[in-house]
Formats: sequence, structure tokens, C-alpha cells
Amino acid sequence: RMGFLNGKKALITGVASDRSIAVGIAEAFAREGAELAFTYQGDRLKGRVEDVAARCNDSKLVLPLDVTDDAQIANVMQEVEQQWGGIDIVIHAIGFAPREQLQGRYLDVVTREGFAISHDISAYSFAALGKAARPLMQGRNAALLTLTYLRAVPMYNVMGPAKASLEANVRFMAADLGSEGIRVNGISAGPIKTLAAAGISGFRNMLASAATASPLKRNVTIEDVGNTAAFLCSDLAAGITGEIIYVDAGYRIMGMQFPEEG
Ligand code: NAP
Repeated sequence: RMGFLNGKKALITGVASDRSIAVGIAEAFAREGAELAFTYQGDRLKGRVEDVAARCNDSKLVLPLDVTDDAQIANVMQEVEQQWGGIDIVIHAIGFAPREQLQGRYLDVVTREGFAISHDISAYSFAALGKAARPLMQGRNAALLTLTYLRAVPMYNVMGPAKASLEANVRFMAADLGSEGIRVNGISAGPIKTLAAAGISGFRNMLASAATASPLKRNVTIEDVGNTAAFLCSDLAAGITGEIIYVDAGYRIMGMQFPEEG
């Protein structure tokens, strides 16, 4: 079967469990014919990521990557170059803030160190991956994609500024790489219950309120995000770069909840 990602080689970061947004992306990519490589953070997750890789077009390329370590980033690109000779797509599905940053009021809990770590792992790492992948992406209509969330919600705290920096990165990287035919975009997903989300206190309330207040009256799924990611990284989206696309059941257009009918 011909898929719209046939012949594309994609590196997928951010698989931590079967519920990870990166898994929804990997499954959509596999269905559309992409060849996949995966990264995992820490030996604890290796087996789990290998299982996901196996069911996504029987991918064998599964590599360790902690984005705080430049040597590991370099190693991933070296392995990919050896196996594939180049790369068409990089998915950045990585976010982190120390747990104590994600409870209480923002200015009560934020620290210089918490701020620095959150920005390093959640925002700088996208630029770091782009910088390292760039030589492998020449002459192939390549695409980089990240996952963001930029609304003021309780307990999200320092992740707000970190995602703002990440979204500015999307625009600056898109402007920088456009002349090389490389596109850079972000997906702003509505709340989804993943491991990262479970670290935010009151996340269940966020899910419920996003569903009731959205036009589609539901939460989004990793399949919803995966399908949009597949489109954005394919040649179907050749004219789109520097954008943040909302996959949020329409939540962000609402100014006020409409009264129930009847
Ligand atoms: P997830 O399954 O927990 O994925 C987060 C990933 O980031 C994990 O694989 C995690 O690995 C990885 N990570 C953290 N620190 C890392 C590091 N130093 N090096 C390499 N990887 C690291 O949660 P998710 O919700 O799918 O998150 C994926 C992305 O979507 C994040 O950027 C998140 O902010 C964004 N997003 C999520 C939602 C949502 O509601 N879930 C909404 C909008 C945007 P470990 O588990 O090993 O730390």
C-alpha cells in the first residue's frame, strides 16, 4: 500500500509508555509507510521502546538519548547516518520540569535551577536536535516537529515560559532552515493523560474542563495528534513552516461556554 510518508526516514523521541504522544505519532507514521528509528531515555525504558518499535514496521533502530548530554545527541545522529545515510523527519516529543515546579503557585515554587532545567530539556533540546540533524537533512524536503502547550493553567507554572521559548524556537528554526528546504512546525495538543501529564497536580480537572469547554465536547487522543503530525511532516504540508497547529478539539477558539440547548 502507498502511504503519504512512503520512503521517509523518521527519528521519534519521547516514547515513555504506550500512552505517549510519540506512540500515536509513530503508529500514524508507520501506517503511512515511514521507516522509523526511536530513542529512549534511561535503560529502564529500553525494552518498552523496543516493543513499540517492533510493532511499528518492525523497526530495529532503537538508541539511547538523554537530551541534556551533547555526546548522546551526536551519537544518535551518527548511528542514523550510518544506517540511513540521511534523515527526513525528526520528532521532538520531550518535556520536563522538576516535579516540585508543578505544584503550588508559580512565583512561590519557581527557582533559578528549576527554570534552567525546564528550559534546557523542554526548549533548548529542540534546537540541539535541529542543529545536530541539519547536515543529515540536506536536499530531502525534511521536517522537524515538536509538541507544545501554551495556556495559563494552574500548576503548569514554569512549563509555560519553557513552552513559550519552544514556540519561539519553532519560528527561529523555521526562518533559519527554510533556505535549506527544511520545515519546522509545532503541534499544540489539548490535554492527554500521559506520564508527563500525570506529574501536573489537578490534571484530571484540566481534562474535564477542556472537554466540556471545547466545540467537539471531547478530549483529543494520541491518534488525533499522530495523524496531524504525519500530515505536517509529509510533502502534503510542503507549504507550511514556522506554524503552531492546534489539535485541541477547538478549545482555543472559545471565549465562553454556550448555554445547553433544550
Ligand atoms: P510522556 O509520555 O511522559 O513523554 C515525555 C517524554 O519526554 C518521555 O519520553 C520522557 O522520558 C522524555 N524526556 C524527559 N526528559 C528527557 C531527557 N532529558 N532526554 C530525553 N527525553 C526526555 O508525555 P507526553 O505527554 O507524551 O509528552 C510529549 C510532549 O508532548 C511533551 O513535550 C509534552 O509537554 C507535550 N504535550 C503534552 C500534552 C499532554 O497533555 N500530555 C499536551 C500538549 C503537549 P522519561 O519518561 O524517561 O523522562
